[in-house]
Amino acid sequence: MPTRARIIAISLLLLSSIFVYAQAPQPNGAGVKSGVLPAAWRVSGPQCPAKPEFQIHEYNEDFFILRESGCSNYEKPFLYLLFGKEKVLMLDTGAGKTDVAEVVKGVIDRWLVKNKRESIPLIVAHTHAHRDHTSGDDDLKQLANTTVIAPNPAAVQAFFGFKNWPEDIVSYDLGGRVLDVIAIPGHEASSIAIYDRQTSVLFTGDTLYPGRLYVADGQAFVRSVQRLVEFTRGKIVTHILGNHIEQTRTPYLDYPIRTVHQPDEHSLELSRGQLLELLEALQGMNGKIVRMAMRDFTIWPD
Ligand SMILES: [Zn+2]
Ligand SMILES: [Zn+2]
Repeated sequence: MPTRARIIAISLLLLSSIFVYAQAPQPNGAGVKSGVLPAAWRVSGPQCPAKPEFQIHEYNEDFFILRESGCSNYEKPFLYLLFGKEKVLMLDTGAGKTDVAEVVKGVIDRWLVKNKRESIPLIVAHTHAHRDHTSGDDDLKQLANTTVIAPNPAAVQAFFGFKNWPEDIVSYDLGGRVLDVIAIPGHEASSIAIYDRQTSVLFTGDTLYPGRLYVADGQAFVRSVQRLVEFTRGKIVTHILGNHIEQTRTPYLDYPIRTVHQPDEHSLELSRGQLLELLEALQGMNGKIVRMAMRDFTIWPD
């Protein structure tokens, strides 16, 4: 290679290595559509009402977070609604018997009025197949213009177009809003993570959240966490949002299983830092997953 060409090639290589690690340019927040999370979520109990209600939180005009009441089910899962121009995606349908379909219809109807629209198709997906994330499926199937993806690996792969599960990372467009879908089996065989390019939020289901991370398949789990670390490298991650809170605000301390009343619970949101901590802890276990309390979560062989 002539010297000049070589210098150009090396310069390009150096530049690209800088851009790989580029973070938010200032001052526009990197073009990320921003939003707000509550300082604390509504506390369930100790006295429960006859009809427990979901807490509906508007992160921004196109992203809503529903939190199921601990009085409906102690799992108190979070459910997510992401609006694109052509479709709205719902992630998880909750635990036990609730009025989830009615609540979701209410959110969608208000969005339609605000956006002067007649209708929008609803796609219901799941972070994984456990019952505390899928119990509202039958209710949601009753809604018009709604597709509920069956919570099993074959259906998830077919819907999103995975050819090489779990290595593929596929994208799904809601209309001007592209999501990346990352297979993360290990907690459960059909587990997926979703990265929303619009808000730079990463949804991790029960694989990473402030609570007990139950590991069913250790090998797959470690590879999945590794995949998340690699996927997010050099990307903006505003929040990592899982689907439960079991941790207290006191480092290393979690609430006992089945706790309804959690007046001092940890924030829902985690950051990429905790993802790196999780990977480091798992790698330190050398293939044998053991129970380990960390500052913001606990690793828990299932
Ligand atoms: Zn689960
Ligand atoms: Zn769960």
